[in-house]
Amino acid sequence: MTFKDLTLTKSLLDAIQKAGYQSPTKIQQQSIPHILAGKDLFGCAQTGTGKTAAFALPILQKIMEGQKTGARHGIKALVLAPTRELANQIDESFRNYGTGSGLRTTCVYGGVSQQLQVSKLKKGTDILIATPGRLLDLIQQRFIQLGTIRYLVLDEADRMLDMGFINDIKKIIAMLPADRQSLFFAATLTPEVKKLSGTILSDPALVFVTPEKEISGLIRQSVYYVRKEDKRDLLKHVMKDTGMGNALVFTRTKHGADRVARDLNRSGITAEAIHGDKSQNKREKSLMGFRRGVIRVLVATDVVSRGIDIDSLSHVINYEIPEDPATYVHRIGRTGRAGAKGTCKLPRKSAS
Ligand code: AMP
Repeated sequence: MTFKDLTLTKSLLDAIQKAGYQSPTKIQQQSIPHILAGKDLFGCAQTGTGKTAAFALPILQKIMEGQKTGARHGIKALVLAPTRELANQIDESFRNYGTGSGLRTTCVYGGVSQQLQVSKLKKGTDILIATPGRLLDLIQQRFIQLGTIRYLVLDEADRMLDMGFINDIKKIIAMLPADRQSLFFAATLTPEVKKLSGTILSDPALVFVTPEKEISGLIRQSVYYVRKEDKRDLLKHVMKDTGMGNALVFTRTKHGADRVARDLNRSGITAEAIHGDKSQNKREKSLMGFRRGVIRVLVATDVVSRGIDIDSLSHVINYEIPEDPATYVHRIGRTGRAGAKGTCKLPRKSAS
């Protein structure tokens, strides 16, 4: 895929070429079409995946398109970031990609005098990049109004929560127009992140990306060709392999997860199923047992797997393969975390 396939305008394509990018990264390929189509988006991606361009490019394009049809005055996009460093990086990206767009960006953050930031704001800004505390300060002093915002980005939302910005974020969100497009990025999917995103996003597109080098470098992937009726036996056989520690097994359906877990238990391999029909309490209990090593296999559906964060997971087994590549990347990203080596197995039906 090329940047041209993403239907970006000429001035953006020129800026991309100038930056020396050959082709869009995964997060860019998967996010840009949704954002251009006006959808809210939840992106699970770390820094280094190209996520800044994944939201900056389509936002610039949408604002430019809006200007042709006589958009409202005032700030059109607000990007919230946890730190001054990140805010500056985002600002720089918008300025680089937006060369030739005529759009103005301003970056505001705490820890420095507000004077320069205020004088820049007074000249007018289309895209505002801000850390939450300073933004609220400047709103209170009436240097910033949020009533014209069309696009909101929360970058590194998990870090913002860790840093205790939750109340500031809630206050800011409450001041934004309801008819906006919201994009939410986090590197980890904790229950708090999920809860916050639920209050901000409406029917979002979901994009999960693991850095490529992590996948190729630390996770060994293998495929077993097997007849459908032999799949269960193969799973038991694989689990009896001495090199196997614990494993997270993915099935497509809740019933499938229950069946696989039951079958493993019958063969003396401790397993529990976790899926949407199990209570939160029950899921937590299963996870705890798994972490402690009391349960060797956790059989999960994709929906619940998003909240699973296990430090030492040795294997991920795709008992049923997922329907899209992003889910596959997300599944296998459950192993090989934080430098731990992991293996991912993928039983496949044989051609016969
Ligand atoms: P980010 O994840 O947004 O912090 O980006 C990480 C780095 O990747 C930055 O230095 C970007 O300039 C660079 N980058 C972003 N998109 C691409 C691309 N499509 N090709 C090559 N480098 C890129």
